[in-house]
Amino acid sequence: LGENLTNTMKKLAGMSVIDKKVVKEVVKDIQRALIQSDVNIQLVLKLSKTIENRALNEEPPKGITPREHVITIIYEEMVNLLGSEAKELEINKKPFKILFLGLQGSGKTTTIGKLCKYLQRKGFSPAVVCTDTWRPAAYEQLKQLTEEMQIQLYGDPENKDALDLAEKGLKQFKNQKIIIFDTAGRHKNEDDLIEEMNKLDKIIEPDESILVIDGTIGQQAGEQAKAFSQATDIGSIIISKLDGTAKGGGALSAVAETGAPIKFIGTGERIDEFEAFDPERFISRLLGMGDIRSLIEKAEEVIDEDKATKTMNNMLSGKFTLEDMKNQFEMMNSMGPMQQVMNMIPGLGAKVPKEASQMTEDKINSFKIIMYSMTDEEMKNPKIIKHSRITRIARGSGVDENDVKELLKYYNNTKKAMKGIGRRGMGGGAMNRLV
Ligand code: GDP
Ligand code: MG
Repeated sequence: LGENLTNTMKKLAGMSVIDKKVVKEVVKDIQRALIQSDVNIQLVLKLSKTIENRALNEEPPKGITPREHVITIIYEEMVNLLGSEAKELEINKKPFKILFLGLQGSGKTTTIGKLCKYLQRKGFSPAVVCTDTWRPAAYEQLKQLTEEMQIQLYGDPENKDALDLAEKGLKQFKNQKIIIFDTAGRHKNEDDLIEEMNKLDKIIEPDESILVIDGTIGQQAGEQAKAFSQATDIGSIIISKLDGTAKGGGALSAVAETGAPIKFIGTGERIDEFEAFDPERFISRLLGMGDIRSLIEKAEEVIDEDKATKTMNNMLSGKFTLEDMKNQFEMMNSMGPMQQVMNMIPGLGAKVPKEASQMTEDKINSFKIIMYSMTDEEMKNPKIIKHSRITRIARGSGVDENDVKELLKYYNNTKKAMKGIGRRGMGGGAMNRLV
């Protein structure tokens, strides 16, 4: 997957003009790449349709080339696919039982050590149970890992009954806050392995089943995830071995197959080479575009700047409308309170209307809600808002008529103050320097 997409992105990066044909071609490439990686076909079609629609219908923001725009869209939609927000492991009951699953060599035992360290840093002290009766020295490996961290471990190298080990471990640690179960990744055959996991699932009744996927295995990830999800309800995925050149593209199919989010990644053999999953970083890596983050940031800045310049200019020229006021409120979130914004302009700080500097977030939000009930015409030309319109707006936004009147009063005062500033000779130049 990584290879194909990287080529696609390179192709796109070499183009200066983007037309319909090119967009369709790029989307096809992405489709092909995803399908080749065993990603669920419905998911591929949905993703590519969204990308194509957006790329063909959305105007690139000013200052962003069409090429950058298409890359941004692809990136955003892929981030959405993986869940745009990193999800945390939520320890919400006692004991919280975590079942680790994955093929032998995928990195379960190592990852358990890493997770223990992570949980210790958060103030938890987990206990670990070894049920791997297949790998020689499985218990020894865990013992070494846990001893260093002074973590309690239950296991018995002489006992070859995984289910019995699980039951005994469960009993021993029933008063612990977190119990982590390590399992075997190998059996006589795969069906037996899945059956053992299924039995363990019934005995342990895990609060979270974590599937460990080797980040270097590519297309097999989907099949592995599917097999293990027959045994238990996979709650999250950890991708190991995302150090070196591996891009972890197979993870997309594991996510698609289980619907479970990726919560952590392993980035090396050492115990602290472990990170909370960051979807944006992961996609950047997958697309082979290290600088995509800065590209996105550039796009966002331009949008803000555009709006800010227009609003500031309107404010100064006295053409201040309700629409400008709404923009102003939105800018306050990103630029800080009005007072602060105005303070950046020499000689202007003291002249900020009193109301503007005293606006609370609640008030701003209630004003915004009222403005959503206004028509475009009213927003552009607030003078027309009289009695019957006030009644309608109040009803539409579920507030008192007095609240609408208060908003109009605030608007009129601000407008007056702005006009005053403009007349006193503060040209647009100063404002343009500000934004
Ligand atoms: P298990 O069979 O699933 O328990 O896998 P292990 O935890 O025993 O790991 C198998 C091998 O993968 C070991 O040599 C580990 O050191 C290695 N390994 C595990 N996680 C990572 C990782 O994030 N990066 C690298 N480079 N190696 C890892
Ligand atoms: Mg192991």
